[in-house]
Amino acid sequence: MNQMIRILIIEDEKNIRNFMISVLTAQQYHVISAATAAEGLSQAASQCPDLILLDLGLPDMDGIEVIQKIRIWSSIPIIVISARTQEDDKVEALDKGADDYITKPFGNSELLARIRTAFRHSNRMQTNDPLAHRPYHSHGLTIDFEKHQVNRDGQNIHFTQNEFKIIALLARNCGRVMTYDKLIEHIWGPYSENDNTILRVNMANIRRKIEPNPAEPIYIFTEIGVGYRMAEED
Ligand code: CA
Repeated sequence: MNQMIRILIIEDEKNIRNFMISVLTAQQYHVISAATAAEGLSQAASQCPDLILLDLGLPDMDGIEVIQKIRIWSSIPIIVISARTQEDDKVEALDKGADDYITKPFGNSELLARIRTAFRHSNRMQTNDPLAHRPYHSHGLTIDFEKHQVNRDGQNIHFTQNEFKIIALLARNCGRVMTYDKLIEHIWGPYSENDNTILRVNMANIRRKIEPNPAEPIYIFTEIGVGYRMAEED
């Protein structure tokens, strides 16, 4: 079934490129690859891939610039492959339009999970089908977007309006990382100060209400220096 799906890999390191090609080919994805940004951009335009895996450190152009160039004409999912440990690069890539990132070194299951999540999300956005409005379910937690209700193991949990906005945004994007800035902009508007303190306070309250052990969350994970990622649905 995956053979109809075309994935473009833009990565200059041969070993990593070949690793990804073999993992994806084994899953019957149709794989196209490029070793430079220029080649990748031309493949992206001519081959109409369904998803792009993009290395940030390319020899001829910064990966961030590649994202910007692609975003001018396409909303195709882009997953950034980053060897860099600096959180700033990941945040910048996400803010410039990447959908998610994966940090080297990574294994095949992580790579495939990220790809599935990206597709699930882009399908949901495109079709705008009623499934997009159905409640979120994970490990006994239910979030009903229409009724603005959160339930855990049958118990109704009270949320303030902002807390609900935060958890609903994370749940609608479950499996994907949401940057602090994206969350702040969504809750408090584009002109709010980029101060993470209020967000952190809200998040602490949310975790206290839903997590059995807030120190070891099972629903909302922290991506240090980047943002939060909510658990995939059951
Ligand atoms: Ca590289």
